[in-house]
Amino acid sequence: MTAAVRREPTFVGMPPFPEAAEAELANPVQRANLRAATHTIRAKRDAVVAELPDWELLRRAGEAIKDDVLARLPGLLEHLEAAVRAAGGVVHWARDAAEANAIVVDIVRAEGVDEVVKVKSMATEEIELNNALAEAGIHAWETDLAQLIVQLGDDLPSHIVVPAIHRNRAQIREIFVREMGRVGRPAPERLSDEPAALAAAARLHLREKFLRAKVAVSGANFAIADTGTVCVVESEGNGRMCLTLPETLITVLGVEKLLPTWGDLEVFLQLLPRSATGERMNPYTSMWTGITPGDGPREFHLILLDNGRSDVLSDPVGRQALRCIRCAACLNVCPVYERTGGHAYGSVYPGPIGAILTPQLRGIARHPVDAQTASLPFASSLCGACFDACPVRIDIPEVLVHLRAQVVDGGRGPHDRAEDAGMKTLRWMFEKPWRIGFAQHVAGVGAHFVRHGVIGRVPLPKRVSGPVGAWFADRDAPAPPAESFRSWYKRTEGGREL
Ligand code: SF4
Repeated sequence: MTAAVRREPTFVGMPPFPEAAEAELANPVQRANLRAATHTIRAKRDAVVAELPDWELLRRAGEAIKDDVLARLPGLLEHLEAAVRAAGGVVHWARDAAEANAIVVDIVRAEGVDEVVKVKSMATEEIELNNALAEAGIHAWETDLAQLIVQLGDDLPSHIVVPAIHRNRAQIREIFVREMGRVGRPAPERLSDEPAALAAAARLHLREKFLRAKVAVSGANFAIADTGTVCVVESEGNGRMCLTLPETLITVLGVEKLLPTWGDLEVFLQLLPRSATGERMNPYTSMWTGITPGDGPREFHLILLDNGRSDVLSDPVGRQALRCIRCAACLNVCPVYERTGGHAYGSVYPGPIGAILTPQLRGIARHPVDAQTASLPFASSLCGACFDACPVRIDIPEVLVHLRAQVVDGGRGPHDRAEDAGMKTLRWMFEKPWRIGFAQHVAGVGAHFVRHGVIGRVPLPKRVSGPVGAWFADRDAPAPPAESFRSWYKRTEGGREL
């Protein structure tokens, strides 16, 4: 067996979004892959959502259940802890990534093994568990197909549901042929790039790992406080293998993943698969409650992960991000994500949800954050498509604007002297009604010199380059009307003369 490898590159040290996006936009193959994949998933989602006449009611039910969970989270977590313990599980509390990683490493070491199989999990990506395990000499084998592709390619995930969305079939085949033999069973001779052949190669490669593994690590989609039941939904069956074959199961659960009762699960098992993969129901739904002698793992450890979530909860606007069920519907409709892909966001949570969740988890409201984190709330056109698609009605544009204000108020935002001067001028103008009137009058005079009703390219002096110059270089702006509303009102006495 090869030595455990610390995955590089990590997200740490990524450039701010505008720079990263510029580099990603220069990759036409990736743009084509992303466009094809997101449009396919969007079409499937739209079709299955249209089948449900009560979709809007389901969304509102999902929103209400999650808001209820957030309103009484501490009590529900204690309820969950008691239920899991009563069913024979062990519960651990982790304030941050370091604590969570240390707990996992300690459990694996206590089992006397040096490898684990993993179910795809955003929480373990968030805490960079694979790197922590590698540093402890423990191999972590990803078993989700897309996550396997990312791991073998020494790559980073770029989508929440389909981490290898930026890769096409030919690229995946090349990764399998090159890398599989290095860490286990090699790819078959003359492997084609047909999806069925690639899936079969992954199945064979993973099977020996499933059968050998003594410890598995998973995340969870939901946990039910009343019963202590944990739930994973997935499409490939790899999750079920991990959750049932090994002797010890460790689940890392973000504390916001709670549902109060079994009945609540009904709502989310309709919302999640339709929003995530455009399916009426996902192929595999695994649920377990503690341990059952003679059936499944003999030990179950549940790690309750905070890692910034309590801080997010304390913000009345930003906390709605904690409703997220990680379906990625907002990514698939986002015009910015579709063109840049997930890597530009420099976070395990890309796209619109990443733009509001990552800065909050990193503490944008309280701590000095790096330029990359401060750039994320600006990675959006605020078109609102994400809100329309979100199955739990997270008003992502509202949170983006809220976070932008925090960044700017803290003096940590993207800075440009011309933009600052423009904003100061606007503030001065809006302070007195006569100043607005005067500005409108001047704009109206200027409108007489504009052709075809638009302001086209403006020959600005060089020192007004930066965002102002770039804005005018790329856009036509509608010309102001020749007569302002105020002077029209004065002239016509509010339209009485018409
Ligand atoms: S924000 Fe909404 S649409 Fe986006 S991943 Fe979360 S639940 Fe899905």
